[in-house]
Amino acid sequence: MGLIRVLDRQRRLIIPKEVLKATGIEPGDMVELWVGQNTEGSPAVMLCKRQDACLFCGSTGGLVGVQEKFICAECTRSAVYALKGALNVHQTALNTASNLEDLEEG
Ligand SMILES: [Zn+2]
Repeated sequence: MGLIRVLDRQRRLIIPKEVLKATGIEPGDMVELWVGQNTEGSPAVMLCKRQDACLFCGSTGGLVGVQEKFICAECTRSAVYALKGALNVHQTALNTASNLEDLEEG
């Protein structure tokens, strides 16, 4: 059984020091909460230290959030370069298909 605490009237909870120590969470840290299930399958609140890092390289500096994930500036540049290349490939394929349709119609 876990540690038992009572929520106060403002829905606040003091997290015991031993829980903070075990999870590496310190006062002032950003934490993330979500609903999961305990081992019996009942709804449970999960909490973990939020450690934002680049999705691709793990860097923690200069992050930009994209759909709840983070990407650093360098990886953003790489992704944009790759996407431009992919767009060019798709556009070339579309132009080729369009030209073939024109030939077939003409
Ligand atoms: Zn990165």
